[in-house]
Amino acid sequence: MGERVPEQNTAAARVALIDLKAQLERLKPAIETAIGRVLAHGQYILGPEVAELERELAAFCGVAHAVTCGSGTDALLLVLMAEGVAPGDAVFVPSFTFVSAAEVVALLGATPVFVDVEPNGFLMAAESLEGAIAEATKLGLVPRAAIPADLFGQPADYASLGAIAAEAGILILADAAHSLGASRNGIPVGALAPATATSFFPAKPLGCYGDGGAVLTNDSRTASTIRSLRAHGRGADKYDNVRVGLNSRLDTIQAAILIEKLKIYRDEIARRESIARRYNKALDGLVATPQLASGATSVWAQYTVRSSERDRLARRLRERGISTGVYYPRPLHLQPAYAQLPRPATGLPVSERLAREVLSIPMHPYLDEVTQDRIVATIREAV
Ligand SMILES: *Cc1c(COP(=O)(O)O)cnc(C)c1O
Repeated sequence: MGERVPEQNTAAARVALIDLKAQLERLKPAIETAIGRVLAHGQYILGPEVAELERELAAFCGVAHAVTCGSGTDALLLVLMAEGVAPGDAVFVPSFTFVSAAEVVALLGATPVFVDVEPNGFLMAAESLEGAIAEATKLGLVPRAAIPADLFGQPADYASLGAIAAEAGILILADAAHSLGASRNGIPVGALAPATATSFFPAKPLGCYGDGGAVLTNDSRTASTIRSLRAHGRGADKYDNVRVGLNSRLDTIQAAILIEKLKIYRDEIARRESIARRYNKALDGLVATPQLASGATSVWAQYTVRSSERDRLARRLRERGISTGVYYPRPLHLQPAYAQLPRPATGLPVSERLAREVLSIPMHPYLDEVTQDRIVATIREAV
């Protein structure tokens, strides 16, 4: 070793929450070649890379069909459209998640009904779903679907939620924007629910360099309806419109990028897992560390701790050049656009508390141990 101090060791170097540059450094030649191939064939919309990626994604998740689309939000929307969700219908969404799930329900004129999460894994709570279904029924709404989110990388409890859904006769649509590549009781994300939506937003565990998303399912009819919906409701050909649809396709260039990223994704997940294990050990007793359910794996989209002194902790980390994030600072039922919607009689107390306590600290496959130790030391000093 020479005298030069690696940049991340200096107090001045800023530690990113998610460092996309480190991954790009690893993949740059492969990605440039892949983009070059698309420029050479010129099929920018639904080119051969889109079909290739869909085959590879389906195989990766152990499902029959992967249908790509314009974003993770559109992936959720497309499934609800294929289901015919309409005004008068209730769709059950977590209050503690990103806005997309509630948004797509409202866009279709149906009613989002909020559900609370459980405090340790941040995942949809089964009893709260039962309460929300009871409340919707009381209001004269027709229960149609629930959209559990696999928050921060761990799959929801689809066995329990699925049993409640079967009883109520509703669809489970998994929001797997954070969890592609994780599993529960050996079943991979994609195969845990009848329909699964995911996102390729750049900061997601498997991200492209723009917007993108996909629906995963074993149901051939759902897959073919979504293929039609994503291209203006097309039938036999482009100028045959058999249903009202969207323009929501994954660009061929983004598919080409994702094919390269998927090749190293397993390795990246293993790196995230080993970083999470080190964090778990080092932070135990300092803050509430994230808990995995038995039988669950996580792809650690975020490493999210809880502390009653969250804001002070975030400030200290920021002063020491360490980026943090708060996912999510306000539960959806307290957002102006979604404030007047139904919820279980027991309320949404966990969502409200988590919004005050959660803090996500740097997590990405290329976070080195020296930097990780610096983050832990700063937290130890602050609490
Ligand atoms: C990112 C995200 C989405 C939406 O994905 P986009 O591709 O940005 O539309 C949906 N749900 C969750 C939980 C997300 O984090």
